[in-house]
Amino acid sequence: MTLFDDGTVSLSTVDDRIRCDLTLPDDEGGYQHQYLNNEDWELTESTLSRRDGDYYLHLGFRKPKPEKQVEKQGDDEDKTVHSVDLGIVNIATTSTAYFASGRELGHRHREFERIRGNLQQTGTQSAHRTIQQMSGRESRYVRDVLHRVANDIIEEALEHSCAYIAFENLRHIRERAPPVKGFHQWAHRQLVDLVEYKADAEGICVEYVDPENTSRRCPECGHTSEGNRARQAEFECEKCGATANADYVGAKNVRWRYIRRSLQSSRRTGDGQLALKSGTVTPNRGFVPSD
Ligand SMILES: [Zn+2]
Repeated sequence: MTLFDDGTVSLSTVDDRIRCDLTLPDDEGGYQHQYLNNEDWELTESTLSRRDGDYYLHLGFRKPKPEKQVEKQGDDEDKTVHSVDLGIVNIATTSTAYFASGRELGHRHREFERIRGNLQQTGTQSAHRTIQQMSGRESRYVRDVLHRVANDIIEEALEHSCAYIAFENLRHIRERAPPVKGFHQWAHRQLVDLVEYKADAEGICVEYVDPENTSRRCPECGHTSEGNRARQAEFECEKCGATANADYVGAKNVRWRYIRRSLQSSRRTGDGQLALKSGTVTPNRGFVPSD
Protein backbone atom coordinates (compact mmCIF):
# COMPACT_ATOMS: atom_id res chain seq x y z
CA MET A 1 0.00 0.00 0.00
CA THR A 2 1.20 3.49 -0.79
CA LEU A 3 -0.57 6.67 0.34
CA PHE A 4 -0.28 9.75 -1.85
CA ASP A 5 -0.60 13.42 -0.92
CA ASP A 6 -3.44 13.89 -3.41
CA GLY A 7 -5.73 11.76 -1.24
CA THR A 8 -5.36 8.56 -3.21
CA VAL A 9 -4.01 5.21 -2.20
CA SER A 10 -2.34 2.57 -4.33
CA LEU A 11 -2.97 -1.05 -3.34
CA SER A 12 -1.34 -4.16 -4.67
CA THR A 13 -3.90 -6.87 -5.36
CA VAL A 14 -3.60 -10.42 -6.60
CA ASP A 15 -4.08 -9.13 -10.14
CA ASP A 16 -2.50 -5.73 -10.34
CA ARG A 17 -1.89 -2.47 -8.53
CA ILE A 18 -5.00 -0.35 -8.27
CA ARG A 19 -5.33 3.30 -7.33
CA CYS A 20 -8.33 4.45 -5.28
CA ASP A 21 -9.62 7.71 -3.83
CA LEU A 22 -9.68 7.94 -0.06
CA THR A 23 -12.97 9.30 1.23
CA LEU A 24 -12.08 11.15 4.40
CA PRO A 25 -14.54 12.94 6.68
CA ASP A 26 -15.00 16.54 5.47
CA ASP A 27 -14.13 18.20 8.74
CA GLU A 28 -10.53 19.38 8.29
CA GLY A 29 -10.03 19.32 12.06
CA GLY A 30 -10.98 15.65 12.13
CA TYR A 31 -8.49 13.33 13.74
CA GLN A 32 -7.91 11.43 10.48
CA HIS A 33 -6.35 14.53 8.94
CA GLN A 34 -4.18 15.12 11.99
CA TYR A 35 -2.48 11.78 11.56
CA LEU A 36 -2.24 11.93 7.78
CA ASN A 37 -0.76 15.43 7.71
CA ASN A 38 1.54 15.14 10.70
CA GLU A 39 5.05 13.97 9.94
CA ASP A 40 5.48 12.64 13.49
CA TRP A 41 3.25 9.74 12.58
CA GLU A 42 4.07 7.01 10.11
CA LEU A 43 1.85 4.42 8.52
CA THR A 44 1.92 0.96 10.00
CA GLU A 45 -0.20 -2.18 9.75
CA SER A 46 -3.53 -1.37 8.09
CA THR A 47 -6.48 -3.50 7.11
CA LEU A 48 -8.83 -3.45 4.16
CA SER A 49 -12.33 -4.79 4.63
CA ARG A 50 -15.45 -4.93 2.54
CA ARG A 51 -18.95 -4.34 3.84
CA ASP A 52 -22.05 -4.31 1.63
CA GLY A 53 -20.00 -3.67 -1.48
CA ASP A 54 -18.03 -0.73 -0.01
CA TYR A 55 -14.37 -0.94 0.86
CA TYR A 56 -13.08 0.40 4.16
CA LEU A 57 -9.39 1.03 4.70
CA HIS A 58 -8.44 1.14 8.36
CA LEU A 59 -5.13 2.97 8.50
CA GLY A 60 -2.76 2.28 11.36
CA PHE A 61 -0.31 4.94 12.50
CA ARG A 62 2.59 4.90 14.89
CA LYS A 63 5.11 7.35 16.20
CA PRO A 64 8.62 6.22 15.32
CA LYS A 65 11.17 6.36 18.13
CA PRO A 66 13.70 9.17 18.02
CA GLU A 67 17.07 8.03 16.59
CA LYS A 68 18.89 8.30 19.91
CA GLN A 69 16.69 5.76 21.66
CA VAL A 70 17.44 3.20 18.97
CA GLU A 71 21.09 3.19 19.99
CA LYS A 72 20.27 2.55 23.62
CA GLN A 73 22.47 -0.54 23.96
CA GLY A 74 25.62 0.06 25.93
CA ASP A 75 28.50 -2.39 25.61
CA ASP A 76 29.18 -2.85 29.28
CA GLU A 77 25.68 -3.47 30.54
CA ASP A 78 24.34 -6.92 31.20
CA LYS A 79 21.52 -7.70 28.81
CA THR A 80 18.81 -10.16 29.58
CA VAL A 81 17.44 -12.28 26.76
CA HIS A 82 13.90 -13.53 26.52
CA SER A 83 13.20 -16.29 24.01
CA VAL A 84 10.16 -17.77 22.35
CA ASP A 85 9.47 -21.19 20.84
CA LEU A 86 6.66 -21.26 18.28
CA GLY A 87 4.61 -24.41 17.93
CA ILE A 88 1.22 -25.90 17.26
CA VAL A 89 0.02 -27.40 20.56
CA ASN A 90 1.44 -24.31 22.21
CA ILE A 91 1.44 -21.45 19.75
CA ALA A 92 4.14 -19.78 21.83
CA THR A 93 6.27 -20.86 24.79
CA THR A 94 8.81 -18.57 26.42
CA SER A 95 12.01 -19.13 28.38
CA THR A 96 10.15 -17.75 31.41
CA ALA A 97 7.73 -20.68 31.15
CA TYR A 98 4.80 -18.76 29.72
CA PHE A 99 2.65 -21.08 27.61
CA ALA A 100 0.08 -19.81 25.10
CA SER A 101 -2.08 -22.77 24.12
CA GLY A 102 -2.78 -23.18 20.43
CA ARG A 103 -5.53 -25.74 20.94
CA GLU A 104 -8.52 -23.41 20.63
CA LEU A 105 -6.95 -21.67 17.64
CA GLY A 106 -6.34 -24.99 15.86
CA HIS A 107 -9.75 -26.33 16.77
CA ARG A 108 -11.55 -23.25 15.46
CA HIS A 109 -9.52 -23.30 12.27
CA ARG A 110 -10.29 -26.95 11.53
CA GLU A 111 -13.96 -26.31 12.22
CA PHE A 112 -13.94 -23.31 9.88
CA GLU A 113 -12.24 -25.32 7.13
CA ARG A 114 -14.78 -28.12 7.50
CA ILE A 115 -17.80 -25.81 7.25
CA ARG A 116 -16.22 -23.90 4.39
CA GLY A 117 -15.68 -27.16 2.50
CA ASN A 118 -19.33 -28.08 2.93
CA LEU A 119 -20.52 -24.65 1.83
CA GLN A 120 -18.26 -24.65 -1.21
CA GLN A 121 -19.86 -27.90 -2.33
CA THR A 122 -23.34 -26.39 -2.28
CA GLY A 123 -21.96 -23.56 -4.44
CA THR A 124 -24.94 -21.23 -4.07
CA GLN A 125 -24.77 -17.45 -3.87
CA SER A 126 -25.82 -17.46 -0.22
CA ALA A 127 -23.24 -20.15 0.61
CA HIS A 128 -20.62 -17.91 -0.93
CA ARG A 129 -21.80 -14.97 1.18
CA THR A 130 -21.73 -17.09 4.33
CA ILE A 131 -18.16 -18.17 3.58
CA GLN A 132 -17.11 -14.53 3.27
CA GLN A 133 -18.75 -13.58 6.55
CA MET A 134 -17.18 -16.56 8.28
CA SER A 135 -13.69 -15.86 7.02
CA GLY A 136 -14.00 -12.26 8.22
CA ARG A 137 -14.98 -13.54 11.66
CA GLU A 138 -12.19 -16.10 11.65
CA SER A 139 -9.46 -13.64 10.75
CA ARG A 140 -10.70 -11.16 13.38
CA TYR A 141 -10.66 -13.94 15.96
CA VAL A 142 -7.14 -15.08 15.02
CA ARG A 143 -5.82 -11.52 15.04
CA ASP A 144 -7.35 -10.94 18.44
CA VAL A 145 -5.76 -14.09 19.88
CA LEU A 146 -2.35 -13.29 18.37
CA HIS A 147 -2.46 -9.71 19.67
CA ARG A 148 -3.09 -11.01 23.17
CA VAL A 149 -0.27 -13.54 22.94
CA ALA A 150 2.09 -10.86 21.59
CA ASN A 151 1.14 -8.56 24.49
CA ASP A 152 1.80 -11.36 26.98
CA ILE A 153 5.24 -12.02 25.45
CA ILE A 154 6.12 -8.32 25.71
CA GLU A 155 4.83 -8.18 29.28
CA GLU A 156 6.98 -11.18 30.25
CA ALA A 157 10.00 -9.57 28.65
CA LEU A 158 9.38 -6.28 30.48
CA GLU A 159 8.81 -8.05 33.78
CA HIS A 160 12.23 -9.70 33.46
CA SER A 161 13.88 -6.51 32.17
CA CYS A 162 14.86 -8.19 28.91
CA ALA A 163 16.62 -6.13 26.27
CA TYR A 164 16.19 -8.85 23.64
CA ILE A 165 13.54 -11.26 22.49
CA ALA A 166 14.89 -14.18 20.43
CA PHE A 167 12.87 -16.25 17.98
CA GLU A 168 13.79 -19.10 15.72
CA ASN A 169 14.35 -17.89 12.20
CA LEU A 170 11.11 -18.86 10.46
CA ARG A 171 12.77 -19.07 7.08
CA HIS A 172 14.64 -22.17 8.16
CA ILE A 173 13.01 -25.51 7.61
CA ARG A 174 12.19 -26.92 10.98
CA GLU A 175 13.35 -30.38 11.90
CA ARG A 176 10.43 -31.23 14.10
CA ALA A 177 7.42 -33.30 13.18
CA PRO A 178 4.74 -32.54 12.26
CA PRO A 179 6.12 -29.82 10.00
CA VAL A 180 4.66 -26.37 10.56
CA LYS A 181 2.84 -25.19 7.47
CA GLY A 182 -0.27 -23.51 6.12
CA PHE A 183 -2.38 -21.89 8.79
CA HIS A 184 0.16 -22.28 11.60
CA GLN A 185 3.04 -21.05 9.52
CA TRP A 186 0.98 -17.97 8.71
CA ALA A 187 -0.04 -17.52 12.37
CA HIS A 188 3.63 -17.74 13.47
CA ARG A 189 4.62 -15.11 10.93
CA GLN A 190 1.81 -12.81 12.12
CA LEU A 191 2.77 -13.31 15.77
CA VAL A 192 6.42 -12.51 15.12
CA ASP A 193 5.42 -9.35 13.23
CA LEU A 194 3.15 -8.25 16.08
CA VAL A 195 5.85 -8.88 18.70
CA GLU A 196 8.35 -7.01 16.55
CA TYR A 197 6.35 -3.83 16.38
CA LYS A 198 5.17 -3.97 19.98
CA ALA A 199 8.77 -4.64 21.12
CA ASP A 200 9.96 -1.68 19.07
CA ALA A 201 7.66 0.63 21.03
CA GLU A 202 9.18 -0.68 24.30
CA GLY A 203 12.78 -0.38 23.14
CA ILE A 204 13.27 -4.15 23.05
CA CYS A 205 15.21 -5.72 20.16
CA VAL A 206 13.89 -8.77 18.36
CA GLU A 207 16.56 -11.19 17.11
CA TYR A 208 16.48 -14.44 15.18
CA VAL A 209 18.54 -17.58 15.54
CA ASP A 210 19.12 -20.67 13.46
CA PRO A 211 16.64 -23.27 14.77
CA GLU A 212 18.95 -26.22 14.14
CA ASN A 213 18.69 -28.76 16.98
CA THR A 214 16.71 -26.45 19.25
CA SER A 215 14.21 -29.24 19.82
CA ARG A 216 16.82 -32.00 20.27
CA ARG A 217 19.38 -30.46 22.59
CA CYS A 218 19.27 -31.17 26.32
CA PRO A 219 19.32 -27.83 28.15
CA GLU A 220 20.79 -29.55 31.24
CA CYS A 221 23.77 -31.45 29.82
CA GLY A 222 23.95 -30.34 26.18
CA HIS A 223 23.54 -33.85 24.77
CA THR A 224 21.94 -33.50 21.32
CA SER A 225 20.12 -36.45 19.79
CA GLU A 226 17.00 -37.40 17.86
CA GLY A 227 16.34 -39.92 20.65
CA ASN A 228 15.81 -37.11 23.17
CA ARG A 229 12.51 -36.55 21.44
CA ALA A 230 11.02 -40.02 21.48
CA ARG A 231 7.63 -38.45 22.23
CA GLN A 232 6.28 -35.33 20.56
CA ALA A 233 5.20 -33.30 23.58
CA GLU A 234 7.86 -34.43 26.01
CA PHE A 235 11.62 -34.13 26.13
CA GLU A 236 13.67 -36.84 27.81
CA CYS A 237 17.46 -36.75 27.62
CA GLU A 238 18.99 -40.10 26.68
CA LYS A 239 22.17 -39.23 28.51
CA CYS A 240 21.25 -37.49 31.77
CA GLY A 241 17.57 -38.44 31.99
CA ALA A 242 16.35 -34.85 32.33
CA THR A 243 12.69 -34.49 31.38
CA ALA A 244 10.77 -31.35 30.47
CA ASN A 245 7.99 -30.01 28.30
CA ALA A 246 9.34 -30.12 24.75
CA ASP A 247 8.24 -26.57 23.87
CA TYR A 248 9.87 -25.17 26.99
CA VAL A 249 13.10 -26.96 26.01
CA GLY A 250 12.78 -25.36 22.58
CA ALA A 251 12.42 -21.87 24.08
CA LYS A 252 15.44 -22.39 26.36
CA ASN A 253 17.56 -23.61 23.45
CA VAL A 254 16.61 -20.62 21.29
CA ARG A 255 17.89 -18.37 24.07
CA TRP A 256 21.00 -20.50 24.58
CA ARG A 257 21.76 -20.35 20.90
CA TYR A 258 21.29 -16.59 20.80
CA ILE A 259 23.59 -16.01 23.77
CA ARG A 260 26.24 -18.36 22.46
CA ARG A 261 26.17 -16.60 19.11
CA SER A 262 26.41 -13.21 20.80
CA LEU A 263 29.36 -14.30 22.92
CA GLN A 264 31.14 -15.63 19.87
CA SER A 265 30.45 -12.76 17.54
CA SER A 266 30.58 -9.61 19.66
CA ARG A 267 30.53 -7.97 23.03
CA ARG A 268 27.13 -6.61 22.17
CA THR A 269 25.15 -8.43 24.85
CA GLY A 270 27.77 -8.20 27.60
CA ASP A 271 27.18 -11.04 30.01
CA GLY A 272 24.14 -12.23 28.13
CA GLN A 273 21.89 -13.22 30.97
CA LEU A 274 19.15 -15.70 30.26
CA ALA A 275 15.72 -14.96 31.64
CA LEU A 276 14.38 -18.00 33.44
CA LYS A 277 11.26 -18.62 35.47
CA SER A 278 13.11 -18.57 38.78
CA GLY A 279 16.31 -16.72 38.03
CA THR A 280 18.89 -16.05 35.38
CA VAL A 281 21.85 -17.97 34.00
CA THR A 282 24.95 -16.26 32.70
CA PRO A 283 27.82 -18.05 30.99
CA ASN A 284 30.26 -16.65 33.55
CA ARG A 285 28.34 -16.55 36.80
CA GLY A 286 26.07 -19.56 36.47
CA PHE A 287 22.58 -19.60 37.92
CA VAL A 288 21.36 -16.56 39.88
CA PRO A 289 17.93 -17.02 41.51
CA SER A 290 15.50 -14.13 41.17
CA ASP A 291 14.14 -12.33 44.27
ZN1 LIG B 1 20.85 -34.26 29.32
